[in-house]
Order: sequence, then structure tokens, then C-alpha cells
Amino acid sequence: MTNPDSQEFVEVAVPLPLRQSFTYSVPPGMQPFIRPGKRVVVPFGRKSLPGFVLGPAHMAPQGKRILPIRQVLDDEFSLSENFLSFLVWVAQYYFQPIGEVIKAALPPNLLNLRHRELYGITGKGDQAAKSFPADSLERKTLDFLRRKGGRTTLTRFLEKHPSSDLSSRIERMIEEGYIVKAEDDYESKSSIMLGFYIKFTDNQNSFCSLNPIESEALEFLRREKEIGIKQFKVKYEASTSILRKFKKNGLIKIIKKEVFRQPSWEGIENWTDGSPFTLTEAQKEAIEVIRRSLRAEKRQAFLLHGVTGSGKTEVYWQAIQEVITQGEQALMLVPEIALTSQLMGYLRSRCQDSMAVLHSGLSPGERLDEWRRIKKGHVKLVIGARSAIFAPLNRLGIIIVDEEHDPSYKQEEKVRYHARDLALVRGKMDNAGVLLGSATPSLESYFNALQGKISLLTLPARIDGRPLPEIQVTDMRREKAAGKERLILSHALEEALRQNAQKGEQALLFLNRRGFSTFALCRDCGFVYRCPNCSVSLIYHLTQESYRCHYCDYALPAQACCPKCSSPGLMLFGTGTQRLEEEIKKLFPQVPIARMDRDTMTRKLSHRRLLNSIRRGEVNLLIGTQMIAKGHDLPGVTLVGVLAADLSLNLPDFRASERTFQLLTQVAGRAGRGPLPGKVIIQTYNPDHYSIRTAQAQDYQVFFDQEAGFRKELGYPPFGRLVNFRWEGISEK
Ligand code: ADP
Ligand code: ZN
Ligand code: ZN
Repeated sequence: MTNPDSQEFVEVAVPLPLRQSFTYSVPPGMQPFIRPGKRVVVPFGRKSLPGFVLGPAHMAPQGKRILPIRQVLDDEFSLSENFLSFLVWVAQYYFQPIGEVIKAALPPNLLNLRHRELYGITGKGDQAAKSFPADSLERKTLDFLRRKGGRTTLTRFLEKHPSSDLSSRIERMIEEGYIVKAEDDYESKSSIMLGFYIKFTDNQNSFCSLNPIESEALEFLRREKEIGIKQFKVKYEASTSILRKFKKNGLIKIIKKEVFRQPSWEGIENWTDGSPFTLTEAQKEAIEVIRRSLRAEKRQAFLLHGVTGSGKTEVYWQAIQEVITQGEQALMLVPEIALTSQLMGYLRSRCQDSMAVLHSGLSPGERLDEWRRIKKGHVKLVIGARSAIFAPLNRLGIIIVDEEHDPSYKQEEKVRYHARDLALVRGKMDNAGVLLGSATPSLESYFNALQGKISLLTLPARIDGRPLPEIQVTDMRREKAAGKERLILSHALEEALRQNAQKGEQALLFLNRRGFSTFALCRDCGFVYRCPNCSVSLIYHLTQESYRCHYCDYALPAQACCPKCSSPGLMLFGTGTQRLEEEIKKLFPQVPIARMDRDTMTRKLSHRRLLNSIRRGEVNLLIGTQMIAKGHDLPGVTLVGVLAADLSLNLPDFRASERTFQLLTQVAGRAGRGPLPGKVIIQTYNPDHYSIRTAQAQDYQVFFDQEAGFRKELGYPPFGRLVNFRWEGISEK
């Protein structure tokens, strides 16, 4: 026997940082509407809060007074049961309050409620209306309420009749029993927009003579069936008179409908001409395997390991097409907002199917409306950054994670999660295929592939047999010996940039700014302090004049000379790099230079403009942070310079070597993607480090083996698991 009370008590999650759900009773009238995922309003303390029904309460609560659910909200923002289970999994796995997880998964503001007061007129009020003078506020109010019928808010009415004492007069009418004030009623504070649409009526009986422009406009409307007035007005100059005529003759109707604010496509250009490629053998094979799995009853997860420029995007696209053909939907994650527009451009030239984008660069209104379009099932493909893993798709057929190794998939504040790992989990729950793609797979994913947990697919060569770029490593210790102090560019890189500029080709200069935490590096021998326990670099702490391990707190007092070669060249590294752009500008005053990093890319669409102008050849030299290393397909770039590989090599992180290998391979992968061959110059004080050597040889296999050995020895992931415990409080006790 199941619990006979299970219908009467439910668990509800509220959007507060509380690690529990709460039990509420369900009034009988509400019971048919209550199901897991349903959005409700519940009393909480003295307030009302929005909440989500998780499921029946496990036990009828004893002794405590259980409050009833106050209101069931409409379904627009309720969650499907499937999706709710996914969120519950996330909450449990990452030890997050379920209410907070739900909040993070929904568009902003959805959980703020607007309290509405509804008023209605009584029979007594109806009779009493005439006893008030015609222009009195009482009369107007009562007439208004009668006209409206039922329950209505008075907000608009009050706005139209500003008067200091209107509300007290309304209170009095309530006391007299002319007006009733309805119980509390809530709705989301989200702003849904309405707009006017033209609807073609196909009225065969209507004849009227039309001039050529009108005939064309009518033909246009017949084709479109329904279109926003705004869109129509852009197209036809005399739109107002045309529409008036059509309407009078019953050819069209004007209707009011919800509109969805959509992120702008402005500046997104179609970078492929849309004609399908002849696929390479490797592409064909990968696509075949994926397609077979997508048609099978139980779908699989794949790791697509394809070198830079091997045409992974085309494989993604074909996989997307397969699920769309099956009537399902695709979700594609990219690590960087800037990449959504490149991908939109790539896909738009192929696909007329509706797409939505989700990322933090959208306005709150756009984000809400994209979310609603997805929820309503209007969308076949969603492209987005990590948070798009929470896109409310109901018929998910595949989840693609491009550049799956990228650290930005990890959300490290508020609700924490790793979007790549969640893709695998959600894929399994929804029986959707999962496709992780990278030129430099994370150790975790590659290890999973070797273990047979996911299937490995490879694209071993670049398109058209284009060679991988030639990579040269410059030893900065020698440059220092040659007498340059605090140098930014080695002779080799300076010379290469000069030649590149002379030939009118394009170059990228890459600087990892994230390595800004300071560590000491010997400029003579490349020595860096490392923790004897954890093998990560020690970070300099100015206040204590010491080097410390951020993992185990091991500490060493700061010293003036290098412990390895006794040189006084031991210096804090990572400073002075901000001046880079100016320095380079001084060196090459005639070269058009642009900078791309978080500081310059703050304005909406600015990255699109910049990338477009690079593609058009208006910029010759682009200086940037990891933003430029990721996935961009810029065929004109023939030279890539990496200014200080040491910055990422010495991050205080056990993944520092992996990051360096990935960054170097990725950034090198930006060179020579077009017909002209590419060249890469990497500057470092550690030319013998295996990350740099294997990146130079572009040999993932060798890198993986070496790195896996190191991880295994120290019990780091994927051979062990790490948990970070944090306690926060006001008192140290
Ligand atoms: P990756 O993501 O593997 O680095 P991309 O998907 O960006 O590589 O592809 C690199 C370039 O090759 C793109 O400009 C793409 O349009 C082009 N491309 C992909 N597949 C083919 C093909 N089969 N034939 C010709 N060009 C292709
Ligand atoms: Zn030294
Ligand atoms: Zn340590």
C-alpha cells in the first residue's frame, strides 16, 4: 500500500539557500493540478514565496501545523518531470540547495513574484452606483468594475485617476460592501511583451482593385500567413494605408500576440557559402558512427578527438541534422560567447530551422524570451555557454560540447557545476546522444574513452591535407643572456612579426593573463618553486614574504637568489604585461592593431565587429588573452606568437601542464587554417617542459601518457577524486 496521504502533502522547494524542502498540504480543489515540477506559491514565514513541487511528502508530518499551498501558477514556467529530476540530481551531486539550483536554471526574475490585488463589484455596489454623482470617483470606480466584470486589478485605473485620497475612498467602499477585494493573487514579475501582428485571412469573397505594390504586399502576406506589423512596416513604405485597405476588405486581421525578444543577428555574417562540402573520409566515418547511435534505441556518448582545423563543426552539424530530422532537438555548448556568433554564422548558412541562443551576454528580456521559446518547443537548436545545459528542451536528441576541455565549462561561483559532466548525465537521463569534441581532450574525457565509458572518434588530419603549423620554441633564458632586460619579444618573434606585416598577412599575439598570480621564476635557468607534496607552483605572498602552496599550505621564506643556479635573476613573474599593446604599437607603428580581452570586449556585439574586421583583413595584428585561443576560424592568420608560456605552466593548479598543452595547441591551431601555411613561435623559460615539447610536436598521445603518469602517481583526477571543502562564517570558532 502506498501512503494514503501522499496526495495531500507535498514537498516544495523554495528559492532560498536552504538545504531542505518543505512540506505543504494541498487543498482538495488544487489536487488535480499538482504534479512534480509544478510552480506554486506557498506561505513562508510572513511572506509568500514561489516554489516548485518536488513530489509527494514521504511521511505525513506529525505534530507540526502544515500550511496549505496558496496558489498554483500557470504552466508556462513549470518544469517537466524529467527536467526536475535532472535538477535534483545536480543538487545532490554538487551538494547544492535544490531551490538554488532551480533558481540558477531559470531565467532571472522568474522567481520574483508580483503581488496583485484584485477587485470586484458586488450586487450591492451595482445598485449603489447610481446614488453617486456621475463624475464622482466612486461612480467611476464602480462603473469601471462593472464594465470589467469578474475580478480585476485597479492599477491602471488608479494611474488614470490620480487622486490623493482615492485609495481610502476605495477602502470605504469595501467597508460598505460595494466592492470586494479578492484574496492574494500572484504572478511572475517577468515581463512578457505583447505586439501587433497581421494575420492573413484568405478571404476568397473579397474583391477589391489593387495597385501593383498592394498586390505584391498581399502576396507577401499570403506567403507569411502571420507577421509582425513592425516587420511589415520596414518592408512597405505606405504600410499604414495598405493595411487599412486590406483590413477594410477583410483580407487581413490585426491581432495582439506575445512577442519574443530575440538576440540580435546584427553583425553575424555567413562565413560559409552554404554549399555542402565533400566530406573527408574521417568526417564521413565519424558521422556514420554517430548517426547509427542516434538511430539506435539506446544512444551513446562520444569523444570526438580532431586536430585543429580538421572540420569538427561539420560533424556536429550533421549530428544536429540527424536529430532534427527525427523530430527532436539539439543543444550545443561552446566555451565562449564570442564563439556563439561564429557558430550561428556557420549554421545559419545551412539551416533555416529555428535556433535559440542562451548566454550571459543577453539582456534579461532576451534571455527570458529565448527560454520561453525553447520551453514552448519552438526551437530546434539551442546554442549557448555553460548555463545552456539547463535549457528547458523537452525532446532532447543530442548534446554537443565543443572544446570540451575548456575550463570555462566549470561554474565556480554560486551554484557550482561542470557543464561537460552534466551533459553526460543529462544525455543519459533523456536518452540523448552526447558528443564531446576537442583537439586537446581533457584527461578525464580521454581516460573515459580509453576505459570504454564513452566511444572515441578521431579526425587525425586537417582539411585538404593542410599542414599543421610549424612550431618554434624560443628559449628566453638565452635571450636574457644576450643582454635584453625585461624583454617582451624575442628576436625571432619580433622578426617574424615584421615579415608578416610586410607581407600584409595577419598575426595573433597570445598572452595568458589569468596567470597573474605571482610566482618566482629564474630568468637564467628557468627554475620555479614547487610544492614538494603537491607538485604545484608556490605562490608569492607579499605580506609574509614567503612562497606558499595553495593546496596544502606548505611555505618557504622568500629568497633573493635562485636555489638552483644562485643567480640573482630570480624575479616575480606576471607583472608588466598590461603594457603589451603599447609596447607593440611602438614597435610597429604602421600596423593596424586590435586587442581582444575581457576589458575591450565588454560592449555587446563588440567581439562580432572585431572578428568580422579581422576576417575582412582590416586588422593585421590581434593581441589577446585566452579569448583568442578558443576555436576561432580565422583563415587569414599565418603567424601566432605566444608571449609567455610560463604563465600558464606555473598556475598553482595540478592541471597547469594540461592547461598549457591545451592553450598552446589551441592557439597554435589558429595559424594556417586558410590556404597559406602557418607558423607559431612560443616563448618560454622552460623549453624542455613536456607540455611545451608535446605541444610543439602536436602530439596529444605522448602528452597524455606523460601527464597521466604524473596524475596517477599523485592520485589526482582522473585517478582520484578531489573535494574542496569550504567553511564560511562570521566567527572563526
Ligand atoms: P575544427 O573545429 O576541427 O578546428 P572547423 O570545423 O572550424 O575545424 O573547420 C575548419 C575549416 O574547414 C572551416 O572553415 C570549415 O568550413 C572547413 N571545412 C570543414 N569540413 C570541410 C570539408 N569536408 N571540405 C572542405 N572544407 C571543410
Ligand atoms: Zn636559476
Ligand atoms: Zn602542497
